[in-house]
Amino acid sequence: MSQQTILIWYRNDLRLHDHEPLYWANQSKNTIIPFYCFDEREFDKTAFGFPKTGGFRAQFILESVANLRENLQSKGNNLLIRVGKPEQIIPQLVPQLNITDIFFHREVTAEETNTEKALAKNLASLGVKLTSFWGGTLHHLEDLPMEINNLPDVFTQYRKAVEKQANIRTTFPSPETFPPFPSEITLGELPRLESLGVEPVSPDERGVLQFSGGESKGIKRVKNYIWEEDCLQVYKQTRNGMLGANYSSKFSPWLARGCLSPRYIYQEVKTYEKARVKNDSTYWLIFELMWRDYFRFICLKFGNAVFHQGGLQKITFSWTQDWKQFKLWQEGQTGYPLVDANMREIANTGFMSNRGRQNVASFLTKNLGIDWRMGAEWFESLLIDYDVCSNWGNWNYTAGVGNDAREFRYFNIPKQSKVYDSKGNYLKTWLPELKNLPGELIHEPWKLSQGQQQDYGLTLGIDYPKPMVDFMKSIQKTKSRINATP
Ligand SMILES: Cc1cc2nc3c(=O)[nH]c(=O)nc-3n(C[C@H](O)[C@H](O)[C@H](O)COP(=O)(O)OP(=O)(O)OC[C@H]3O[C@@H](n4cnc5c(N)ncnc54)[C@H](O)[C@@H]3O)c2cc1C
Repeated sequence: MSQQTILIWYRNDLRLHDHEPLYWANQSKNTIIPFYCFDEREFDKTAFGFPKTGGFRAQFILESVANLRENLQSKGNNLLIRVGKPEQIIPQLVPQLNITDIFFHREVTAEETNTEKALAKNLASLGVKLTSFWGGTLHHLEDLPMEINNLPDVFTQYRKAVEKQANIRTTFPSPETFPPFPSEITLGELPRLESLGVEPVSPDERGVLQFSGGESKGIKRVKNYIWEEDCLQVYKQTRNGMLGANYSSKFSPWLARGCLSPRYIYQEVKTYEKARVKNDSTYWLIFELMWRDYFRFICLKFGNAVFHQGGLQKITFSWTQDWKQFKLWQEGQTGYPLVDANMREIANTGFMSNRGRQNVASFLTKNLGIDWRMGAEWFESLLIDYDVCSNWGNWNYTAGVGNDAREFRYFNIPKQSKVYDSKGNYLKTWLPELKNLPGELIHEPWKLSQGQQQDYGLTLGIDYPKPMVDFMKSIQKTKSRINATP
């Protein structure tokens, strides 16, 4: 067999472990050139004009790519880095490096698949073979017990079917050694944030975790959360928290960039179950990873509908695009402490708990009736763990346009605040203006009498906003508007 040169086109799969393209390329004993392209479009603006990739995620991606290069170098290989459009740069590399094959993980949503199609077109006359792989989910696409077009509309049905009828494949080991890396290649430097048009951010000490990108840090977090801190055995009880590093796994930023493979996490959970304890909590982490899979398969099934205003259900409701109100939500100035604390957390750290995400999304859509896509794009801009399918899929669900939405559902935010932050410690972390209020009064500051305001040194409307809308009236308003939609 003649010698081949295989380009591994890295995307959201920035790891060596459980990486099928890398594994097979290495098994073939051919020359391997791992390659990452910072796609300039990723640093553009969203449709509503927000930076598409904010500082926290951009920094995380840079760290992840740097770590990938280090890890490849430590095994005698390297990573080629470029900035531009992959579909233009790869065809230029082909004759320069005598590339015969390109291996990559396929994606499912429009921007990514358009790049794949454009690449295939631009390579058509160059005689290069493009081979795509499915990766990044717990259950492999080919192992689903149904055709993708028959994917159930309800998660529980999907989950039960895969639990009963599908196996989770074992992970591909990280290659231990590589064939020599060609020496004549210009490797390319890691870009700086400024050159990508991204404003650098500084860490906020109130953040749940100082996230740092890369496979090595991702694996360290798994070891720390599951084994050293032994948090897995109580995950189901703690997962709805909002404060601190360990109420939930915080694996999401590494999963989103592919620094961690969900099958690797699955394997660790199974080992933990054998070595320590198997209970509801150990199961629940896998359960959540199945939600993650489900959103990816939903996006594959429904294509671009997930991005459209009517969502997967094609609902014709006319959401408002009230920028004045939207800004209050964005800036954490709604007068609802739970919403405001969470919105300030995401702006200052790039992270928000699942509980927080559900509440702020409910407030934007069900209380304010604002176009949910504006919220989804704001999240896309800020989230360090932004994952196109998980973000847009979850927004579809919270807005009530997801494929199984049947009735008008909303989160009772003051109640949620009391249940999930009973002492108000989370609220006080992000809303210093409310720090003197006792826990039982902090959730609904609008109920404070003039005398209480004086006692606690807080003037509502000056130090902290009065609620921008009446809670129940605003819910009723959106509900009747939605119900009146033909
Ligand atoms: C409006 C909204 C937007 C969201 N956007 C994203 C996003 O862009 N990226 C993202 O990874 N998650 C998103 N989520 C899901 C969830 O909030 C985060 O995955 C979770 O908070 C990450 O923290 P963790 O890793 O500690 O989660 P854990 O509770 O420890 O869960 C373990 C893993 O399971 C997966 N998972 C958990 N819950 C969900 C869920 N509801 N949907 C999909 N996967 C889930 C994640 O990969 C997570 O890392 C969103 C949720 C909502 C309501």
